[in-house]
Amino acid sequence: MHCGKCCLLKWQKKDRIYFSNLCCSELDIETGLCRCYEQRLNVSGCRKVTPQLLKTQPELLPEGCAYRVLTEQGKLPDCHPLVTGDKDSVRKAGMSVVTMPIQSAALRQQAVRQLRRQRHRLSAAEFDEKAMEIEIKFPLVFLEDYAVKP
Ligand code: SF4
Ligand code: SF4
Repeated sequence: MHCGKCCLLKWQKKDRIYFSNLCCSELDIETGLCRCYEQRLNVSGCRKVTPQLLKTQPELLPEGCAYRVLTEQGKLPDCHPLVTGDKDSVRKAGMSVVTMPIQSAALRQQAVRQLRRQRHRLSAAEFDEKAMEIEIKFPLVFLEDYAVKP
């Protein structure tokens, strides 16, 4: 339903999955759509959604994902445009990444790598200050979490 939440970076700790505000570099955060959809499977970490994946690793998709809801509950999510008749209903329900404080994981990673390269030229205080600047510019926030198996 084009919510874009499956393109957010996730962390798994024990039996819970944590969705972050950092996204794949190919996600357009203005539209919530993939910039290279036809070639997406060439992007590192991108997986094809298949019935098998939904059966064995549903946790790779967020709980409100239309594929998951359809598989687990036999119906579409209430905010799905095919249910509401409104093509903007996912955004209006606050389910789309366009309503969330999303940042590109690649940009944060680039800034962190750059800082690491400069490390030997910086005092501890300068290093801490620059690390703080990265945290302010590209904050890492966990948006939601849920159990691994439904
Ligand atoms: S490449 Fe895959 S993970 Fe990245 S934005 Fe496109 S669909 Fe999402
Ligand atoms: S409905 Fe599911 S597969 Fe579609 S964009 Fe949202 S999380 Fe991804």
